[in-house]
Amino acid sequence: MYNKSEIAFEQSKKLIPGGVNSPVRAFKSVKCNPIFFDHGKGSKLYDVDGNEFIDCISSWGPLIFGHADKITQEKLNEYLLKGTTYGAPTIIESKMAKKIIELVPSIEKVRMVNSGTEATMSAIRLARGYTSRNLILKFSGNYHGHGDSFLIKAGSGAMTLGLPDSPGVTKNTAKDTIIAEFNSIESVKEQFKQNLDQIAAVIIEPVAGNMGLVKSRRDFLVELRNICDENKTLLIFDEVMSGFRLAAGGAQEVYNVIPDITTLGKIIGGGLPVGAYGGKSEIMDFLAPNGPVYQAGTLSGNPLAMSAGLSVLNRLNKKLYEKLENITKKIEKGFLKNIKETKSKAIVNRAGSMMTLFFTDQEKIESYNDAVRCNLDQYAKYFKNMLDMGIYLPPSQYECMFISSAYSENDIKKIIDCNKKSLELL
Ligand SMILES: *Cc1c(COP(=O)(O)O)cnc(C)c1O
Repeated sequence: MYNKSEIAFEQSKKLIPGGVNSPVRAFKSVKCNPIFFDHGKGSKLYDVDGNEFIDCISSWGPLIFGHADKITQEKLNEYLLKGTTYGAPTIIESKMAKKIIELVPSIEKVRMVNSGTEATMSAIRLARGYTSRNLILKFSGNYHGHGDSFLIKAGSGAMTLGLPDSPGVTKNTAKDTIIAEFNSIESVKEQFKQNLDQIAAVIIEPVAGNMGLVKSRRDFLVELRNICDENKTLLIFDEVMSGFRLAAGGAQEVYNVIPDITTLGKIIGGGLPVGAYGGKSEIMDFLAPNGPVYQAGTLSGNPLAMSAGLSVLNRLNKKLYEKLENITKKIEKGFLKNIKETKSKAIVNRAGSMMTLFFTDQEKIESYNDAVRCNLDQYAKYFKNMLDMGIYLPPSQYECMFISSAYSENDIKKIIDCNKKSLELL
């Protein structure tokens, strides 16, 4: 069934570390070999063996309209003919900035970069420069890309592979990152007490998607905002995942809690490598060439990537989010019914079109400590069952499903039916 993928993996392992360019793709935690893909169309992915899958990952979030989206392609074609990059200003960069500022409540000025990792790394440098303080507070199980300062109690691949502290991150760097527990304001207060006037910024995924889907409680975010204000600490929302996905204005719009700096990625590039960070003008103007904090990028804001991203941002509206909500709610309902009928020990966490089925006998998953107590063996078996029935899920319990607007009623029904069969087979 996966012959050509097996051969491709044997090859790539000789050429690329682990055969992949990003660790979770290797399928290690679900104990099988990765599938190699040939093309995508709408809600579907097609592998090199010709198998068809309903894609429940959307390239880890970016493809909100599904694969090979026509309008994005047309815009890309238009810009491709003009050349791909000039390393000089273009008008489309201002159009992009204007759109982002319009959509994201906290952003008055924005700087484009090339990935989510770059956005978060730059955001904490800016926060440190602006506040003249060193410490960054992050939450266990939150993932902010692979910057050294963040590979401490990180989620996503670092959690999947059991590498919470990566070798190569120096002790001196690690000591400037302090940790609190997600959804625990007490743990935040404790850190502020112990590190008075030293914390430059608190960075958080307001809706965490990198330990499986875990929502923060609104009162927790409100308190966090207050504590940051009281201590003159900047609050950074890492909305690389939640931005433009939960709503056009991201989690900050949904929760109505406004951070000082917001980091963006994934959807913002419409499938091309793009990231961004933005916030209050006063803070953003601390960046070079206006201010002393340096940050740059040869390909930052290149017109090709901007054209893809802007074509997506221009189509984010209420109707789209209602559609995504309806599709994902149906899938959630189906899963919950199946869990009940098959007497499975599992629960579902969902926020908009992000969702995780956790194998656990706990009643809720609200933190890293809850998430790590899930049954990973069961998830691995469930994943394989679903894969063989043509449903492509995240290859780890600690990631979430991302639903696109390209799903048909048939896709929804098939996902729910296969979920039932897969649970029965466990
Ligand atoms: C994906 C992600 C990142 C990293 O983005 P890359 O583009 O993979 O570098 C950072 N923060 C969050 C919340 C993410 O989900």
